[in-house]
Amino acid sequence: MNAVTDVKGWCPGILRPMASGDGLIVRVRPRCGAFSLETAIALADLAERLGNGHIDLTRRANLQIRGLTDDRLGELQIELAKLGLLDRDAGTEAVRNVMVAPLAGIDPAQPFDVRPIALAIDDALTSDKRLHALPGKFGLLVDGGGAISIAAERADICLAAVGDALAFGLDTTKGTQWLGMLAPAEAAETAVTAAHAFLALATSGRMRGLGQAAFAEIQAAVAPRLSPLAGLPRAGGRRLGLLEGVVGIAAPFGRLEAVQLRRLAKLAGDAGAADLRLSPWRAVYFGVCEEAGLFVLEYACDAGLIVEENDPVLQVEACPGAPDCKSSSVDARADARRLATVAALRGWQGSIHVSGCAKGCARSLPSQLVLAGKAGVYRLIRNGTTRGPVERTIGVGAFETLFQGTQDD
Ligand code: SF4
Repeated sequence: MNAVTDVKGWCPGILRPMASGDGLIVRVRPRCGAFSLETAIALADLAERLGNGHIDLTRRANLQIRGLTDDRLGELQIELAKLGLLDRDAGTEAVRNVMVAPLAGIDPAQPFDVRPIALAIDDALTSDKRLHALPGKFGLLVDGGGAISIAAERADICLAAVGDALAFGLDTTKGTQWLGMLAPAEAAETAVTAAHAFLALATSGRMRGLGQAAFAEIQAAVAPRLSPLAGLPRAGGRRLGLLEGVVGIAAPFGRLEAVQLRRLAKLAGDAGAADLRLSPWRAVYFGVCEEAGLFVLEYACDAGLIVEENDPVLQVEACPGAPDCKSSSVDARADARRLATVAALRGWQGSIHVSGCAKGCARSLPSQLVLAGKAGVYRLIRNGTTRGPVERTIGVGAFETLFQGTQDD
């Protein structure tokens, strides 16, 4: 079995792990955005037995097992193959970047189940070798509308249910440009047509990086299949806690422990759910009745997971930092928690990014307040990214000073 262990990149896979400060990271891509409960429990067991028990939920709705050593990788790959999660090669695995609405098929407010469309795209990506040339970050999104929509998330090619049809969109520097409507039966093929059209123009970069002429060529490739827009998808977004027949639980900074994943899967089973749904908000969802949902939320709260939208930790993006990442000299997540508390006390409403180093893995977009670790302290940047101009250097003990003037000073 393939056991490439030394390839670094933004996108670790099962067959192409990434080295980090706490060992190898293996990213597991679910099929159609969900893991069966048995698979989720098996993943928790594997993370504990072969990794260090830390699991990441990623912003592309995948799951990462951390802390593997080289000699454990082969065994993990064999176990993941038994679970049906191993692709035939690293190229096939890398191209499977399809985000699916977390409540697809279980939300009665969604006009139809979009999972067959996502599966058809997944099949095309894996079986059509020409598509393996797509850039590593190239992704697709299939949204079903309803109570929790992912239509506002960024992806190179977007499909979103509107009524009994789907809106088709391409990513631009200003967000998704919705181009027209198509029938569900046409959706997967049209998305694949757009992917091929992109490849005819570029083998690197993203849809949003194309010039006007190139973008127009892709538009022209799909235009014959589209009818005029019949409405825009509802933006939607993350919702947590007890919703209509569903519970949503976020992991602080995306970090879930194996014991938490196992317990959540067991609670989901007790509540009658069939699977755990992943989302781009580093939150999991599953179906519950109200009584079971309240019990699940009680556990999640006690376990330090996030069940309310107003939790201050949600305001802060943070990468693992030290000791998990060897590029960092600061414990970014622990410091981010402290900062979240201080920010909430001071009434700060803006976005915050705490990064272990200047690379800024957790967030590439600007934030109002950015702290980037260096030599045990943080460089402060305002209204920018980790690479923006540094205002000053600040230690953890001085976090209070960041918010002076924001309340009643
Ligand atoms: S931003 Fe730096 S410290 Fe954080 S995960 Fe990326 S490389 Fe590691």
